[in-house]
Amino acid sequence: MNSTYEVIIGLEVHVELKTQSKLFCSCSTEFGAEPNTHTCPVCLGMPGVLPVLNEAAVACAVKAALALNCTVHPFSKFDRKQYFYPDLPKAYQISQYDEPLAEHGSVPIVIDGAVAKTVAVRRIHMEEDAGKLNHLGQRLGDAKGSLVDLNRAGVPLVEIVSEPDMRSADEARLYLTELRNVLSYLDISDLRMEEGSMRCDANVSLRPLDYHGSLEDLPRVEIKNVNSIRNVYRGIEYEIARQAEKMGRGERIVKETRGFDDQNGRTYSQRSKEEANDYRYFPEPDLPPLVLTASYIEEAAQSLPPSPMAIRQELAEAGVTANDAEVIVADRAALEYWRSATAVFADKRQVTNWMLSDVSRLLNAYGDTFWTARVGPQALADLLALIERGTLSGRMAKEVLDRMYETGGRAEDIVQSMGVSQITDKAAIQAVVQQVVAGNPHVVQDYLSGKDKALGFLVGQVMKQTKGQAKPDMVNAILKDVMADYAKA
Ligand code: ADP
Ligand code: MG
Ligand code: ZN
Repeated sequence: MNSTYEVIIGLEVHVELKTQSKLFCSCSTEFGAEPNTHTCPVCLGMPGVLPVLNEAAVACAVKAALALNCTVHPFSKFDRKQYFYPDLPKAYQISQYDEPLAEHGSVPIVIDGAVAKTVAVRRIHMEEDAGKLNHLGQRLGDAKGSLVDLNRAGVPLVEIVSEPDMRSADEARLYLTELRNVLSYLDISDLRMEEGSMRCDANVSLRPLDYHGSLEDLPRVEIKNVNSIRNVYRGIEYEIARQAEKMGRGERIVKETRGFDDQNGRTYSQRSKEEANDYRYFPEPDLPPLVLTASYIEEAAQSLPPSPMAIRQELAEAGVTANDAEVIVADRAALEYWRSATAVFADKRQVTNWMLSDVSRLLNAYGDTFWTARVGPQALADLLALIERGTLSGRMAKEVLDRMYETGGRAEDIVQSMGVSQITDKAAIQAVVQQVVAGNPHVVQDYLSGKDKALGFLVGQVMKQTKGQAKPDMVNAILKDVMADYAKA
């Protein structure tokens, strides 16, 4: 069905900035407080009050713009975007319209650790958030009413608008993932889509292959406020199929805003954009233009942390696979943990493997993160050292790790108390092997007549008798030696 169309996607992403106070007043931005307790005459839109720009928010926005490879303009200004909605007490939102903070950036789409494509960022501007409506019902349509919470009104946002450069739901997913990766290292936002501190509107259209006009003129659907990267992906997939089917029937696509229902995976019409929003933008008279000196911008550029691409490089050089690196890059806590653990334990592959399998399993089970892991990087390194020295097998180490996590104890102490240390004493293993060989003459015969599988059974018997504590590669070697002697006898 898609062969006669090309999928065109552009994303608008709103990111709440993690400042102490709001964009134009000193109210707290803290999430989850009692409704309407973080408000004042400024963010409630009382007459006669004046907004004052929060410098910390500007610093965050500039960092974001630079990390996304934008040109930051030394001069930008604020504008009033006017519309009526109960979550907007002033009936206008202070935003930036024709002279935004920054333009012409880019975000790489990364596949297998390499840049597969670059998506252009059209612009980044600052604006204030609106309040939040809590509908008394399952959804707006059947709500008995709505309650307004203005704690969020005036919280600083950046809006990051991409060019319509993405060609599939998967590219949109990868763009959002990398955008979040980049921003996560700047420490400027919680970036929690489920809490709304990062929100995405996805614009989707299908270009008939014989259409060569401006993409802006194609009728597009804007899927509003999707609350996870997965749902952005699902919503776009649904929209592609819906539009393709409509066009296949010869119907016209109407420009409209649609919502996404994550229960059934469908988008639904919210309002038609035929009548084109008229926001009657005009310059905000109560705020001076935002003027940034070249040295301010330069200093911000100098202070940027390494990019996710640079971190991927660091991980690749340490022998971490591209897949594992993606998991670590996407989780700053994991990266810090990885760096600390590899600083004290040389085998970086081993650290990575344990982090992403058994440590992650325990973090999930206990509801922890790599920041709050009860087995920290040094403790993990201590455990891995015991494997390296042959005191523990990998299997035993898993059990020891479980106990370490449970009790907070040190690896060596737990090994002592569990009495689980690995048997590496050759004579001790030989004694057990002799017994097993003597007790299973038929199996030994099978092995000697070429049935290699028989060896596995005998190894199993030795492990059983030693309660799994014999070092497996030694058991293997000693068994072979003993049976070779046996054959000669
Ligand atoms: P609006 O105010 O209508 O949301 P914006 O200028 O803020 O418009 O954003 C437009 C978004 O739509 C951009 O992300 C842009 O890349 C995207 N876009 C433009 N043309 C298309 C298209 N044909 N298909 C999909 N997205 C598009
Ligand atoms: Mg927009
Ligand atoms: Zn306020």
